Amino acid sequence: MLPYGRQSITESDVEAVAAVLRGDWLTTGPAVGRFEAELRSWTGGVPCVAVTSGTAALHVAYVAAGLRAGDELVTSPLTFVATAATAALLGARVVFADVQDDTGNLDPDAAAAAVTPRTRAITAVDYAGHPADYDELREVARRAGALLVADAAHSIGSAYKDRPVGSLADLTTFSFFPTKTVTTAEGGAVAATDPGLLRRAALFRNHGLVRDPAEQRTPGEGGWHQEVHAFGLNYRLPDVLCALGVSQLGRLARFRERRADLVARYHALLRDVPGLTLPAQRAYVRPSWHLYPVRVRDGRRREVYDRMRAAGIGVQVNYVPAYWHPVFEDLGYRRGLCPRAEAYYAEELSLPLFPALTDDEQDRVVEALTAALR
Ligand SMILES: *Cc1c(COP(=O)(O)O)cnc(C)c1O
Repeated sequence: MLPYGRQSITESDVEAVAAVLRGDWLTTGPAVGRFEAELRSWTGGVPCVAVTSGTAALHVAYVAAGLRAGDELVTSPLTFVATAATAALLGARVVFADVQDDTGNLDPDAAAAAVTPRTRAITAVDYAGHPADYDELREVARRAGALLVADAAHSIGSAYKDRPVGSLADLTTFSFFPTKTVTTAEGGAVAATDPGLLRRAALFRNHGLVRDPAEQRTPGEGGWHQEVHAFGLNYRLPDVLCALGVSQLGRLARFRERRADLVARYHALLRDVPGLTLPAQRAYVRPSWHLYPVRVRDGRRREVYDRMRAAGIGVQVNYVPAYWHPVFEDLGYRRGLCPRAEAYYAEELSLPLFPALTDDEQDRVVEALTAALR
């Protein structure tokens, strides 16, 4: 089965990991700082904290934002459930606002209509790698007195109005799961534009342990002494995986280029196929495409999905609206809440897209899709 996404691992990646395995540190050592410094070169200089997954990154970002019981988080339902689940676990109420018809990204007007005095944060999701409308969302957040969070699990290496993802929101989260554009097996990171947010993120990743005597309540205790001032967890990304991340980031520009070529090729090959809507792109963004999401019209998505799977093409659907999950249903969320996200979901089909996908394989995808639609 041709997958919809897959990692690109080279011998140099393997060598980078093996070198760490032969060294002194398996967990927190010099590769963590190297990885965070490399990431920073992709976020326009905004500092980053590496964590164990994209989900951990969201959890850390929400803790840093001070999200707690009684607060509200406004976000898009067209996302992986973790964007909302991590906020719900902190006791916050998740308020889903609808998406734009064409990009599938959080609609700034819908977000503006969803904010209340309790809104602590607004989380945009750069669906498929296409950045959300950050200037408008920033204004919505400013008026609400809320922080702006970017779930950039799809969009590392993307740019909006010549500004890189990572620099567009107060807090940006990345995922390095194998299907994502850059992988560390499991892994993630949080970028924070404000030093206070960054510090809270770094502390929460490591149990909240305060090591600097200047900041301790009882620094005279001894050289071994560490203090916890606020609870945290162990979300540390190991050196072994950070070394893989450094090696992978060295090829991100090439990954992005190959993905852009494949997207341009899909556009050209599928332009005249009836019954399809191809993904939109705003003139002012440069996406680092994670997905190639087509929309299959006329209620035929299920049939086309089944036929392509039967033909050995591992298409995927991204995503069932987050509030359709029974956990949200049980909390009183009802279908029909965000009609544009539901309409997007009803038609969406993600075609295979990854750097090692060959032109021949892509032709096979196009043939299978065309045949399924006939
Ligand atoms: C992958 C993903 C996550 C979660 O990342 P993990 O690394 O799998 O925990 C969160 N949000 C979105 C939009 C994702 O695609």
